[in-house]
Amino acid sequence: MLKNRVAIVTGSTSGIGLGIAQELARLRTDIVLNGFGDPGEIEAIRSGIEREHDVRVVYDGADMSKGDAVRRLIATTIETFGRLDILVNNAGIQFTAPVDEFPPAKWHAILDINLSAAFHGIAAAVPQMKKQRWGRIINIASTHGLVASTHKAAYVAAKHGLIGLTKVVGLETAGSGVTCNAVCPGWVRTPLVEKQISDMATQKRISHQDAAKALLGEKQPSSEFVSPEQLGGTVAFLCSPAADQITGTALAVDGGWTAQ
Ligand code: NAD
Repeated sequence: MLKNRVAIVTGSTSGIGLGIAQELARLRTDIVLNGFGDPGEIEAIRSGIEREHDVRVVYDGADMSKGDAVRRLIATTIETFGRLDILVNNAGIQFTAPVDEFPPAKWHAILDINLSAAFHGIAAAVPQMKKQRWGRIINIASTHGLVASTHKAAYVAAKHGLIGLTKVVGLETAGSGVTCNAVCPGWVRTPLVEKQISDMATQKRISHQDAAKALLGEKQPSSEFVSPEQLGGTVAFLCSPAADQITGTALAVDGGWTAQ
């Protein structure tokens, strides 16, 4: 149970972030939702979680590509709730191209959202968490924080950087009641991956279903997608007393991908 805790989950209007927000709410955590999308759909998600789990859920549309907006999100949360216990840096984007064709604007956008946003959020959150003598920072990295694939220069660089940042913050907060860890999912079937499945289907002239199978077959020995609910469970574990001494690590949830 995480009753009376307050969590920010960035990029939680969809996919993995939504799965994490739902699991934390199930454990009675108040939630700050964040991310883009249709305002009506976001409000339905917000009020749905609030009703189902009897917790307070607010939405903040801060743009994670802007450092000031990330820092404001942290400050506003502390103002609104009087505390901040859990920060899940999850918002992320993907773009694929060979390195020599990779558009510089995409490089910068991926580095800003997938890496620098976590730096700004952590920098703004750590003083409050240290004051409380309890805090959990969880960075949603990727198997691509541990190993590489072709055509993902910016994503792989950002996710490797995120694991480096996790280690530094784990060391700097050690013994303060605050921990910082990275979670490294393999393939999870979310809109971010649907696009890659569609691209593969077009490229190889195969069905969407065969492309999903091929995507898994190439990298993920379990041949099964990781689910957002399972990642919610991983985050909940990292927030539990069993994980009090786990810090600065990168935990793979990848069906065996990085064991190869
Ligand atoms: P998704 O596209 O379903 O969700 C991404 C979320 O981030 C959405 O809520 C979106 O609105 C939000 N977002 C995007 N840009 C933003 C911005 N500038 N400001 C605020 N919010 C923004 O993707 P997902 O698959 O759920 O990915 C979530 C995280 O998990 C990402 O960091 C991704 O790299 C990581 N990840 C995904 C997979 C996978 O297979 N899907 C695997 C490993 C890691």
